[in-house]
Amino acid sequence: MPELPEVEVLVRHLAPRLKNKMIRRVEVRRARILRPTRPAELKRALTGAQFADLARRAKYLAFTLQRPGGGERFLLLGHLGMTGRMYLQPVNAPLPKHTAVALNLGGENFVFEDTRYFGRFTLDPSPQEGLGPEPLGDEFTLEYFIQGLKRSAQAVKVKLLDQSLVAGVGNIYACESLFHAGVSPRLPAGKLARGQIKRLRSALRKTLAEAIRFGSTVTLDWPGTGERDGLFYYGRAEGATDYEERLCVYDRQGQACRVCGTPIRRIVQAGRSTFYCPRCQRS
Ligand SMILES: [Zn+2]
Repeated sequence: MPELPEVEVLVRHLAPRLKNKMIRRVEVRRARILRPTRPAELKRALTGAQFADLARRAKYLAFTLQRPGGGERFLLLGHLGMTGRMYLQPVNAPLPKHTAVALNLGGENFVFEDTRYFGRFTLDPSPQEGLGPEPLGDEFTLEYFIQGLKRSAQAVKVKLLDQSLVAGVGNIYACESLFHAGVSPRLPAGKLARGQIKRLRSALRKTLAEAIRFGSTVTLDWPGTGERDGLFYYGRAEGATDYEERLCVYDRQGQACRVCGTPIRRIVQAGRSTFYCPRCQRS
């Protein structure tokens, strides 16, 4: 499932490719992912519009589009859901079976493919409301984090997934950051000492930044071109260690902790798996 680093890598990859491209035609095959935007509404807004900018916000791709002739700018939000993929392919290549939306850009099609249709592609800006600061941004200060955790009785692992506290942190990076900070995932958020919060904030930022630097956990070369873009080898930086080798606890239940050798444990918190080392994360 794509997490913040995958979305960031995808945004960096797509942004220069989409810049100033004009949408000639809009094809909607799965209206569900547009909700509450209707297909006719999307077609009306997008046809003739140009891609002006692309940025990541939490796990959303925020496309800024401009109406024809340097007109008004508006926002289109994309979310990969569990199985979504977004890429460009030559206009003469057949659209894949699970194409949800295809935008004809002239020589290329921008394809949003989603086998399970949990993704989003919408003009509705409301998913961005109430999001907390970006974990890698300047607003995510130590004092902010301390205040945000202070009043919570939830386990810190569960609290880290609260998007109003900090936006875009998913299960993998919550588990990994708690391991690197040496903090137990079961500890109530409000019980963390200042030193622990400081370590956790640093671990979160470092883990995410590293994942972005190493590239995506999933290949982005869906059209199978093998083409390089100079920034990433379609998601994986050259010479980067294998993704699984970098993970310390996530999905490593029963395997030896890379630091102390203790078997990694799996528990379920708020319906999600948590992986941790019972020895390295005692407090
Ligand atoms: Zn350990």
